[in-house]
Amino acid sequence: MDTAADLLFLNEEVALRINPFSEGEYLVIQTYPQEKNLKVSKRSFDYEIAKKYCELEGLGHDYATFELRIIRDHKLWTVNNSGYPRTISQQQDWKVSPEYLEAIDDNDNHGEIIICFCSYPYFHGVTAQTSGSGEVVECWHCVTCLVDDHEREIHSCPNCEISLVDELDDDSDDFYEQITQPAVCIGCANYHGQEYAEELLICAIHPYGWDGVSCPDFTVNNN
Ligand SMILES: [Zn+2]
Repeated sequence: MDTAADLLFLNEEVALRINPFSEGEYLVIQTYPQEKNLKVSKRSFDYEIAKKYCELEGLGHDYATFELRIIRDHKLWTVNNSGYPRTISQQQDWKVSPEYLEAIDDNDNHGEIIICFCSYPYFHGVTAQTSGSGEVVECWHCVTCLVDDHEREIHSCPNCEISLVDELDDDSDDFYEQITQPAVCIGCANYHGQEYAEELLICAIHPYGWDGVSCPDFTVNNN
């Protein structure tokens, strides 16, 4: 007999979240805006169906971007024009360890989960440390918070390697600019990076930025 839990799988929304991904499965994921959990809009083993869905999803949303990925070796990969894995995806199905999710809900804890521009979540919070003179001092640290890799102090993003250290020294706009400027835009004359009504405009040619290792419109900044 079916249990209530079995019936849940008949609901596509629920099944999307619960069923583990399979080798060779295509996923249409939301790559912007970023969320703490991987946002999957469609799963299919058929490349054409997934590609079509991705295109329609893109047309249907003005303020969100969607991209196609494929599962290989339990990881997400970008897809080439023939539907085969191309490069490892910056977005992965990151699993945040429950203790960090509890920590951000607990008012006694000072800390937050920050999502790197590349999609990687890490925890920025206070830890108590004993100084040389025996005094207990509170320090802000960036630590990893994934189920399979947590409590490791980090100074750069383990996924895209952007530096996170400046944030500890000062809260200047430089840090904000650094974390929001995609690596692919560094040194490009077209990079804009200003916020309008809380929407970040990356550049006039690609308002949401370019997802890839080299942008076709990259122009060397001679300043
Ligand atoms: Zn990153």
